[in-house]
Amino acid sequence: MNRIWEVLNDPETTIVFDIDGTLISYNYGERRAHHELDRDATEEVFRGVDIYNGCRGIPVIRDFLKTRDLARIYCLSMEPHRHDVSKKKAVNLYYGIQPSHVYLVDDHSEKPAVLKQIAEASGVTPEKLVFIDDNSMVLRRVEEETAFLTAHVTVFFEDHEEMIRF
Ligand SMILES: [Mg+2]
Repeated sequence: MNRIWEVLNDPETTIVFDIDGTLISYNYGERRAHHELDRDATEEVFRGVDIYNGCRGIPVIRDFLKTRDLARIYCLSMEPHRHDVSKKKAVNLYYGIQPSHVYLVDDHSEKPAVLKQIAEASGVTPEKLVFIDDNSMVLRRVEEETAFLTAHVTVFFEDHEEMIRF
């Protein structure tokens, strides 16, 4: 069994989830991962599109969180398009995560500093906090700049019974 899976399953562990591509499926367009107006239109036009109204959650993660104390569950997401209210509403409706536990930043580079703020405010030691993201470069940055544990979102989709050896 992967050690991080054990840590994640410890009810005392604090988990900080990225949102786009982690808690919410990164399929915002009609036939594209990115919404058709994301990058192709003016920023102002895309800001007016409510991409989280009608978005899709990840059932295996919702099941994982059903038995957890949500006081130890946070979100940390890049949100430069001012979809703040709608994004917080989506993770609250689907996962029950409190809007006050959702931290939004303008750029991925801010994530390590905000993780430190979350840990300090909640009195969590680095080995009891796991940050989960779908972007390996963001995970790398957190690993380089903090002592927190990390996991790629695919940890939830793995077969935890069988390991492929050859
Ligand atoms: Mg992401």
